[in-house]
Amino acid sequence: MKALTELFSKLVEKIRDVEYIDEATLQEIAREIQRTLLKADVPLDLVKTFTDNAVKRIREEKPPAGIPPREYLIYVLYEELVKLMGGEQPAEFKPTKKPYIVLLLGVEGSGKTTTSAKLARYLMKRGYKVGMVETDTIRPAAFDQLRQLAEKIGAPFYGERDGKDAVEIARRGVANLKGVDVLIIDTAGRHRNEEALLQEVKAIYDAVNPDEVVLVVDATVGKLAAAQAEAFMKYLPIHTVIITKMDSTARGGGALAAVAKTGARVKFIGVGEDVEELEPFNPRKFVARLLG
Ligand code: GDP
Repeated sequence: MKALTELFSKLVEKIRDVEYIDEATLQEIAREIQRTLLKADVPLDLVKTFTDNAVKRIREEKPPAGIPPREYLIYVLYEELVKLMGGEQPAEFKPTKKPYIVLLLGVEGSGKTTTSAKLARYLMKRGYKVGMVETDTIRPAAFDQLRQLAEKIGAPFYGERDGKDAVEIARRGVANLKGVDVLIIDTAGRHRNEEALLQEVKAIYDAVNPDEVVLVVDATVGKLAAAQAEAFMKYLPIHTVIITKMDSTARGGGALAAVAKTGARVKFIGVGEDVEELEPFNPRKFVARLLG
């Protein structure tokens, strides 16, 4: 979060210097907003719409009596950023049946395996019994990685070290871990090619009929997060997105905005490598923190 907060702190400082809002000041603030959003890797069309909306509001609405102009500017910026990052409602993650099957997808290196364990830990702390299944047959290290993470947090685990058929592993995982409240199924992030990867996750989806499909995206891809989500969406519904590595890049702002535009809901953000470093994503709280 530091990189993104630092990026916005310049903009906030500029606004705090404003004594009254004339056209020149407004233009300068608009330019600073654009610079900030572009540096955060927000897609250009969203930056344009955002700035136009904010400028229009500031021109047309008068600050309520007694509110200093700078506070009014911050307020408009806050409101518009909340919209950009996904709107009012914090998205909830609520298992509604037992076992609640969660399918985790994402390209290799996105932080998918780590996020499986983080999500399991998050749910276990809230009283759910969580099982984990590894179906990656392409990268054998994934099996050991998730098994070790499962052991560390004390979650039942199913996987087949030398397994060849991801769909069968998923099926057997569901059969073997019947007693849990939530079952998290991790999938491969790399395959012979992208098409093969997407076909495989679709086949697992068809076989286990998950209650929630979660796509894990690395914040450092910034606005390209939308293209990643859309590629998966062609094959299966994406209910939830988790954006990882928000701690290490300012581009996470762009990733959040780009994903919000696809209509998928960001429910969590990853803010570190540790298994505890997963936060529910609440646009209001997030933007409030961003603006200091
Ligand atoms: P996978 O290939 O998608 O399963 O990715 P991994 O779970 O193996 O994660 C790839 C790398 O990203 C590892 O070094 C993780 O520790 C790291 N990582 C995952 N999530 C986060 C996060 O939120 N913040 C940071 N800084 N690193 C993360």
